Amino acid sequence: MLAPPPLSVYSKLLEAFGPQGWWPVSVSARGGPVYRPGFKGRLSERQRAEICVGAILTQNTNWNNVVRSLLRLKSAGMLELERLSAAPSGRLQSLVRSSGYFRQKARKLKIFAGHAKKRGRLSRWLCQPMDILRGELLGLWGIGPETADSILLYAGGHPIFVIDAYTLRIGSRLGWFRKPGYERAQRLLSRELPRSAELYAEFHALLVQLAKRHCRAVPSCQGCPLIANCRYGSRQG
Ligand code: SF4
Repeated sequence: MLAPPPLSVYSKLLEAFGPQGWWPVSVSARGGPVYRPGFKGRLSERQRAEICVGAILTQNTNWNNVVRSLLRLKSAGMLELERLSAAPSGRLQSLVRSSGYFRQKARKLKIFAGHAKKRGRLSRWLCQPMDILRGELLGLWGIGPETADSILLYAGGHPIFVIDAYTLRIGSRLGWFRKPGYERAQRLLSRELPRSAELYAEFHALLVQLAKRHCRAVPSCQGCPLIANCRYGSRQG
């Protein structure tokens, strides 16, 4: 069986699951992050900061744990980069404890916030040419490709495909990637898809949804919207 083209997989997933409304951000002074399918407006400074913080906190943990940390940071007024960079380390560690690796993550947040603060408004800093900004982000301690690309795509609106463990797993099972690897997978998907931040943002979210519903470590192929096109799934049945 030939590997299905990424664009047709995108269409099937969108039809099956609908728009996912990523990246979730809070829309009120008190509430937590919410998904906003169909949202096409501009992000505020605060929302961009929240996405950057969330992208760092979500490393090696699930989103529910991140939401608890974001809510604590928000109620402490720490979703502003100025305050985040000046916060005492111990205080920050306790606020992000629910996200795991809290000492490292507190340090990463302070380094990121300190750097971003020097660069001025996020809306301007994040709108630099993508390759320059990506290099800058990857030069910061604790920011790897997945975090950098999440920030670029979801906070900066740059057309770059975020690769995560789910994408690599699904892509391997579908036959997209013979040798999984971050840069290789990113190059392939960028080559196969129209260059669109909107499409990349939605597709990444849909792949996460697929991984949660069906394409788990032990896949549950029954009912998967891709089963007719998946060489791995067809062997399971
Ligand atoms: S058919 Fe099975 S292996 Fe293939 S994408 Fe769906 S869940 Fe994953």
